[in-house]
Amino acid sequence: MSTHTARPSIESARRDAAHFIDGAFTQGATGKSWENHCPLDNSVIGHVPEAGKAEVDAAVTAARAALDGPWGELTVAQRTDMLAAVANEITNRFDDFLAAECLDTGKPYGTASHIDIPRGAANFKMFAETVKNISTETFILDTPDGANALNYGLRRPKGVIAVISPWNLPLLLMTWKVGPALACGNTVVVKPSEETPLTATLLGEVMNKVGVPKGVYNVVHGFGPNSAGEFLTQHPLVNGITFTGETRTGEAIMKQAAVGLRQVSFELGGKNPALVFADCDLDKAVEGTLRSAFANCGQVCLGTERIYVERPIFEAFVARLKAGVEGLRLGRPEEPSTTMGPLVSMEHREKVLSYYKAAVDEGATVVTGGGVPDMPGDLAQGAWVEPTIWTGLGDDARVVNEEIFGPCCHIRPFDTEEEAIRLANSTRYGLAAAVWTENLARAHRVAGKLDVGICWVNSWFLRDLRTAFGGSKQSGIGREGGVHSLEFYTELSNVCIKL
Ligand code: NAD
Repeated sequence: MSTHTARPSIESARRDAAHFIDGAFTQGATGKSWENHCPLDNSVIGHVPEAGKAEVDAAVTAARAALDGPWGELTVAQRTDMLAAVANEITNRFDDFLAAECLDTGKPYGTASHIDIPRGAANFKMFAETVKNISTETFILDTPDGANALNYGLRRPKGVIAVISPWNLPLLLMTWKVGPALACGNTVVVKPSEETPLTATLLGEVMNKVGVPKGVYNVVHGFGPNSAGEFLTQHPLVNGITFTGETRTGEAIMKQAAVGLRQVSFELGGKNPALVFADCDLDKAVEGTLRSAFANCGQVCLGTERIYVERPIFEAFVARLKAGVEGLRLGRPEEPSTTMGPLVSMEHREKVLSYYKAAVDEGATVVTGGGVPDMPGDLAQGAWVEPTIWTGLGDDARVVNEEIFGPCCHIRPFDTEEEAIRLANSTRYGLAAAVWTENLARAHRVAGKLDVGICWVNSWFLRDLRTAFGGSKQSGIGREGGVHSLEFYTELSNVCIKL
C-alpha cells in the first residue's frame, strides 16, 4: 500500500505521447497521429503518433542489437540491480505515474495509488528477485557400459519479446510482462493500448534515468490490425509474443504469430462467476462482491459479472449489494470521496450501454442503475455509466454469457452445490471465480471442480505475485507469475557433459 497522501492534479500529465525507440523519444516519420481523449470529460489530452512498419522495424532492430550487445553482456546481478532501480524510480516518480494513469483512464486516485502504480514497481522488484533464485534440474546418467554424463538445464533468454497490452490497468499489466521479460535477459518492444499511451511512454524516461541500455525497452504506439500491433507481431525478429486483451484479438494474434512459429502467452477475457453459499459470512461476501463486480468501473479481467447466490440468502444478498452499489461515489480522480470513475472511452460506453439495453430487452429486472448518470459541468461529456445490477434473466441471455467489461452484474439464485458448479462452468471462458463459504470442506470441493485459472475463496484480487496467473478454456494460453513466467520468457537448454 502506498503512503502517498499528496494529490497532484491530473492536469500536469497532459501532453503528446511519443514512441521510445533505441533510448530516444521520437514522433516517427509516418506523419499519422490520433487524439488521445480523457474519459472524464472527453477533452483532448494530446496527440499520439502512429507507428508504421519502419518505426516498428527500428524498435525491433534496436531490441535485437541490445540483446546481442550491452544487455546480453550483463551478469544476472547487474541486470537485476538495474531492474530494482527501475522499481525505485517508479516509486520516486509516483505522482507523475499516478496523474498520467488517471488522466488516461479516469480511474480514481484511490484505485491507482493502491493498485496500479505500486504494482508497476512491484512487478520489476519481484521478478528481479525471482531470477536470482532459480534452479534447474540436474541428472547424472550412470549406465553399466560406462556412458556416464552430467546433464543440467540452462535457462537462456528467449530473445526479443513483443508485449501487447490493454487499457484497463495499463502500467500494471504492461510491467507484469516487461518485468519478467527483462529479468530473464530479454529485450522488449511494447505496443500499449491506443486508449492509454501515457504511462508506457513515461517508463522510457525511467529506463534512461537508471541507465538501462538503449534498445532494451522500446515503445511503439498504434492500433491493432494493419497498424503497429500487427506489424510488431509479424516482425520476423520477434521471438515471442505476450498479449493481454480480448479473446478474439488473441485469435488474430495467434494467426500472426504462426508465421515463423513464434510462441505466445495469452491472458484473455473472462465472464467470471461468484458463488455465494448460504453458509458464507454475508458481510464479507457482499463487501467482496461489491469490489469484484465494480472496482475499476467493472473493467477488470478478473471481475465478477455473474453472481450465483444460494436461495435462502438470495433476497438479502441482492438488497445488500444494491445498497453497496448505491453508496458508490462517481467523480473526479483527485476527489478523496470518489470510488468510481468513468469507463475508458466513449466508444466503450456505447458497447456497455448496448448491453444495458439488451438486458432490458431480454426481460431483466433492473435492481439499480441501468442508465447514464447526471454528471456536473464538463463531466457531463465523459464516458460515465451507472453501476448496474440485474436479476431475472435466463441462462442464455447475452449479458449472462458475453463479457461486458463494465460496472454491472447479473444475480441468479441456485439450490444445490452441483447446480452452482454447473452454472459457474457453463461458459467458454475460464479465468477466475470467487467462492464465498465458511465451510472448509465445501471450499476445497468446489475449488477443485471449477474450470478456472484462479479460484478465490472468501476473497478477490488477493494476489501473491509468485503464484501462477492465467486462464483456462478461452481465457488464455500459458501461465505467468513467479517461476511460471520463466516457462515463456526463457528457452530451457539441456547441457550434457560426458564424464
Ligand atoms: P483488445 O484485445 O481490444 O486490445 C488489446 C491490445 O491488443 C491493444 O494494445 C490493441 O491495440 C492490440 N491489438 C488489437 N488487435 C491487434 C492485432 N490484430 N494485432 C496486434 N495487436 C492488436 O483488449 P482491450 O479492450 O484493450 O482490453 C480489454 C480486454 O482485455 C478484455 O477482454 C479483458 O478481459 C482482457 N483482459 C484480460 C486480462 C487477463 O489477465 N486475462 C487482463 C486485462 C484485460
